Amino acid sequence: MKSADDLKRMLHDMDHRSYPSYKQTKGEYRFDGYILSIDHVQGDPFASPSRVSVRVDGARAGFPPEFRAGKHRRTALEDELARRFARAIKKNDRRGSGSGKSGLISSSRPGQEVLERTCCRIDPDSGEVVFRMEIGFPAFGRSINAGELIHMLFELLPEYVKSALTYHKDKHDSYMEVLNLADDRLAIRKALDERGLAAFVADGAILPRRSGVSDLPMEKAVPFRSPDSLKVTLSLPHAGEITGMGIKRGITLIVGGGYHGKSTLLQALEKGVYDHIKGDGREYVITESTAMKIRSEDGRCVHSEDISLFISNLPDGRDAGNFSTEDASGSTSQAANVIEAAECGAGTLLIDEDTCATNFMVRDELMQRVINKDKEPITPFIDRMRYIFDSFGISCVLAAGSSGAFFGVADTVIQMDSYVPYDITDRARSEYEKAGYRPPDDTEGQEPDFNRVISRCGIFGDGDRVKVRSHGRDGFSIDHEEVDVRYLEQLVDNEQTLALAQTVKLAVLDIIDGSTTFRGVLDRIEKRLETDGPEALCKRMPVCGYARPRRQEIAAALNRCRFLRIARK
Ligand code: ADP
Ligand code: MG
Repeated sequence: MKSADDLKRMLHDMDHRSYPSYKQTKGEYRFDGYILSIDHVQGDPFASPSRVSVRVDGARAGFPPEFRAGKHRRTALEDELARRFARAIKKNDRRGSGSGKSGLISSSRPGQEVLERTCCRIDPDSGEVVFRMEIGFPAFGRSINAGELIHMLFELLPEYVKSALTYHKDKHDSYMEVLNLADDRLAIRKALDERGLAAFVADGAILPRRSGVSDLPMEKAVPFRSPDSLKVTLSLPHAGEITGMGIKRGITLIVGGGYHGKSTLLQALEKGVYDHIKGDGREYVITESTAMKIRSEDGRCVHSEDISLFISNLPDGRDAGNFSTEDASGSTSQAANVIEAAECGAGTLLIDEDTCATNFMVRDELMQRVINKDKEPITPFIDRMRYIFDSFGISCVLAAGSSGAFFGVADTVIQMDSYVPYDITDRARSEYEKAGYRPPDDTEGQEPDFNRVISRCGIFGDGDRVKVRSHGRDGFSIDHEEVDVRYLEQLVDNEQTLALAQTVKLAVLDIIDGSTTFRGVLDRIEKRLETDGPEALCKRMPVCGYARPRRQEIAAALNRCRFLRIARK
């Protein structure tokens, strides 16, 4: 292997030459304490920055073995190192010191959630740390500025590696805080399972966010406080005993006046499938990890989905048992979202009436009397909630302040009153009965037919030529075919969206074979991501910039690909 000095010499020699000479630097170099690998060199100063990684030997990185005991700890530590690296870079932003991306050093900038990312990986056995980044190789106009790159690679980067990617004994407690939190969160997830809970919201949690565009905790918010009747006490390995509201599996209704905090609670539950960093306010707000937000999404495409649980007698004679459309209505889109959630294994549906198709959810008695049943294709969700839980074990948490009809099917009714929850189950039920309401009859449905098969589509040619782009968090394109994921509200990071795009590409090129069912394809994708990590999504070489998406979002992305053919077996 070449030495760091070799690289320095090479760079000196190419100073002021034309930019493409930088290409010669591709390769690995031994630095003091780590290996620097220049994986890909940009073609000109304005192109995507060059790809660089460092490999810090386990002994040199020095993280004690117990730091990586268990995947949850490893992921938490990787996330922490990424944050430390991001902070180190920020202090030294050198952009603007030349043309194009000159002087840029960047990697992932994690937000409030702890995600498995390609930027930082720690080997479970050896403790080796691999860290991947992008570097804008500096230029004067279009010629090489070697001095600046030498400064970046020989002064700045070693400093970042030392401060962010190696163990510092004097900071032991701050690492332990991160790892202990990871242990505690895992303990809560296990407790959910053991106690038949869909979610846990700790007393004292801060649920609201600072603003619609900031994910930071709101200052001076009313801390969460569980009603006594729903209070559970959990014993965590590090934090000890904590109390909070346990949301039981089954049907839970969140009611309350407008602006009293219903949606805020539901949104906290949506994000509770992920782990949050210390200081977020939602550290101990944990939702079982397959929970899925369901909403209406008119305009989406649907591929051969059996939505007959909710829809029958479509006016154009179409078969709701094998329903396809390029442009779903509010109600059919929401029906498809529910069925697809069941198909991909969601254990809990999270629904906010603010984003529902009203006619999908409930129909009042007067309307039932005026519009004959055979003229109404929709069996409302309220009529099926019980069946969905009893038959498939899928729970539902529904925030709905507009219809008392839901009292008849709810196991638990929580009222939000000035941001504080109250258990009003008994009162709601007795009012319901006093008013002469009856729970819906005719609630039995038929198990949806999930036998769908994805076949390869014609548009993809040679794997390497398939162009993948993402548009922030909201969507991506593959070979110019757009996929809209903006209504997948549990996507929290652009890197997840980019990873989804690559997941679809991987599925199309490597996994979809025209005979495996939709569920089977999901299983195989997940297995690949489990064994190879999110790096499985990087075709030519592992690079930073991808965060592993959940099975639920992968399914949702595949379902929204208009170019795929998904049909009945
Ligand atoms: P609802 O869905 O019941 O109409 P929201 O959840 O949208 O109400 O909340 C209304 C407003 O109150 C939002 O601006 C939200 O940020 C704020 N809010 C929610 N929970 C709290 C809280 N615990 N403390 C302070 N403000 C809160
Ligand atoms: Mg609301």
